[in-house]
Amino acid sequence: VDYYLDNIRKKTHLNVFLEVYDKEAKESARLIDQKIANGTAGKLAGLVVGVKDVLCYKDHNLQAGSKILDKFQSQFNGTAIQRLLDEDAIIIGRQNCDEFAMGSSNENSAFGPVLNEADNDRVPGGSSGGSAVAVQADLCQVSLGSDTGGSVRQPAAFCGVIGMKPTYSRISRHGLIAYASSFDVIGIFSKSIEDNALVLEIIAGKDDFDSTASQKEVDTYSDDLSSERKLKIAYIEETLSHEGLDEAIKDRTKDKITFLRNEGHIVEPVNFPLLEYALPTYYILTAAEASSNLSRFDGVKYGYRSKNGDNLESMYKKSRSEAFGEEVKRRIMLGTFILSASYYDAYYTKAQKVRRLIKESTQKLLSEYDFIILPTTPTTAFKLAEHTSNPLEMYLADLYTVQASVSGTPAISVPNGTDSNGLPIGLQIMTNDFKEKELYSFSKYLL
Ligand code: GLN
Repeated sequence: VDYYLDNIRKKTHLNVFLEVYDKEAKESARLIDQKIANGTAGKLAGLVVGVKDVLCYKDHNLQAGSKILDKFQSQFNGTAIQRLLDEDAIIIGRQNCDEFAMGSSNENSAFGPVLNEADNDRVPGGSSGGSAVAVQADLCQVSLGSDTGGSVRQPAAFCGVIGMKPTYSRISRHGLIAYASSFDVIGIFSKSIEDNALVLEIIAGKDDFDSTASQKEVDTYSDDLSSERKLKIAYIEETLSHEGLDEAIKDRTKDKITFLRNEGHIVEPVNFPLLEYALPTYYILTAAEASSNLSRFDGVKYGYRSKNGDNLESMYKKSRSEAFGEEVKRRIMLGTFILSASYYDAYYTKAQKVRRLIKESTQKLLSEYDFIILPTTPTTAFKLAEHTSNPLEMYLADLYTVQASVSGTPAISVPNGTDSNGLPIGLQIMTNDFKEKELYSFSKYLL
């Protein structure tokens, strides 16, 4: 704990932590030391964890990177947090992120951007940018983030760390602030596969507080991560021929394909013509869900309330107008439009149908292959402010991550070298639902 607190103090310029629980962390460490001495310590005894500002931690502030939750405190522990604490992990602080997890660069936070440690003029990716940099810069061992369309995998790739998005429903969403409920998944950042697997093993599994959480038994992800079998792997041709893909990322991905072939695995190109529909499908459906989820922030029940309203209606409007940031407002307006009576069928219903097609063809591929590999992102970390004036450009950062989100399948980003400027590159691996153990074993084999 002292080691990480010291690093956090030395690296405040990265703007990772919104709050550091130094006293509590030290006190927990002291108590856990005693438990270790008595032989009663939990499986995560002493693991120092940081959490994205979207996870409920009882009696601690929680803001989703937004002014609208000003001074709001959680009244309960979310399931993932409770399970970490039950196994004696130490929560060291609350991490900066894009407002309500909407963004790909961490520039949409009400608390200013997080900086990438590899190059302080560049973004860490988003929306869980703080959580990724925390692991990259050694400010904690493991972070919990959330991944709706890539928010764990994309910043993991930009920061050169491991980022895991398990199968949708594998981890309870109880105590995770909702962005787009049918996509939201808690994800895990770490430097080692073993840490990642152990944390997932502990936080995953059925939960009485979330009826959508899977009832399926949780594998012991952390033991025997060896991979000896010869595998059948697909890569999606459309991702490598995409004109926006950086040469260095293409080369590193091809290097992996060559490596795998030389090792005797079958690696084949496949086509996924629906790729170009994945982003529009994702942004239509998530905006719709977000506009509904965020309607609860009205100035009455939580956080910020405008002093300028002169009746109930104007108090609602002014609270929301004054406290929500630009990107959140954009999505609420888009989502409300998409769900409006005259456009519902043209956008929402249509996108749901396309979602089904994307899911079915992804699952078909995954029934024929053990894994699909693809770049995590089309580019390496971009410069601060490079895309802030053009939301469509920003959305392209998610081009390769949304397929797994639209399909609900598990996917991981693992470090895959750097470009000529030393900027990290990520390799993404997808597999079929609930095969997290295989994903970890294969990732370990590749690292
Ligand atoms: N960048 C994507 C978005 O803005 C993904 C965000 C996320 O996964 N939370 O929606």
